[in-house]
Amino acid sequence: MPMSAFPESGVWLKGNFHSHTTLSDGSLSPEEQIRRYTVQGYDFLAITDHNAMYDRLEWNEGIVMLPAWERDISYVEKVKCTHIIGLFGSWTPSNSEFKRPKGDKEIMDDQMLIDEMRGDGNVFISIAHPAWSRMEPEELLALERYDAIEVFNTGVECLCHEGHAEYLWDYLLRRGKRVLGVACDDTHGHTVKDDHFGGWVMVKAQACDRRSIVEAMVGGHFYSSSGPTIHDWGIDDAGNAYLTTSLCREVHYITYPARGKSFTGYLTETRYELKGGEAYIRAECVDFAGNRAWTNPIYLT
Ligand SMILES: [Zn+2]
Ligand SMILES: [Zn+2]
Repeated sequence: MPMSAFPESGVWLKGNFHSHTTLSDGSLSPEEQIRRYTVQGYDFLAITDHNAMYDRLEWNEGIVMLPAWERDISYVEKVKCTHIIGLFGSWTPSNSEFKRPKGDKEIMDDQMLIDEMRGDGNVFISIAHPAWSRMEPEELLALERYDAIEVFNTGVECLCHEGHAEYLWDYLLRRGKRVLGVACDDTHGHTVKDDHFGGWVMVKAQACDRRSIVEAMVGGHFYSSSGPTIHDWGIDDAGNAYLTTSLCREVHYITYPARGKSFTGYLTETRYELKGGEAYIRAECVDFAGNRAWTNPIYLT
């Protein structure tokens, strides 16, 4: 039996879990933000205003809202800052407002912030826009207890072409750090090019509800995209990695320490013969508009 990276049963759900509103530095009201993502056909959305988590179940009309926030530390003496997205699981505060002051570099460092977010009940934690934040690879490697890094961030890509973090992701994976990669919008509405609908995750969840979506995220049952659809991804009976997608012009298999392989053409199904000894394999595909999708890694050792 081929081994798919995705569960056999479940529903595919499209979502963005990084967006801002007028509750912090975004340009749209929460109501307008929710309306836009709903009209665009998204199944779930998280509003992640800076250092403030609001539960928006009361606006849950046709879209599942995930309680979430973006916590940050600004390091005044350096260009570096740290922004971290946290998704809550089943926890629903009775008080609709949950705020924390900004992390103070005098009393808090990156690991303390992650630990505090875990303590607050965040069940999925991702490091936001690490390239834009000026986080060094070794800093990401040293941090513990986070689930993912943003492999693509639309807002930062629109702002200054620093939305990609594939190099940092592979740096971590090569050293045995098992982190997921996520794409998101980080919608603010301030950039010249609109930062809506440029990066999302497709989650295979058991049901279209908050708990199932968050469980699927934590389990890595998703891929990230800025365009292409990934139908399946896994290892076949013959020991080949396989990827089936919407029509793409490029498919790339990225492995370590053996080198992977790139395919070009009119592609919907590709296979890559594993050499043996690969620590991990992941895949990216690019459609004819130049948009990309990213699988999560499969670990082989
Ligand atoms: Zn941020
Ligand atoms: Zn943000």
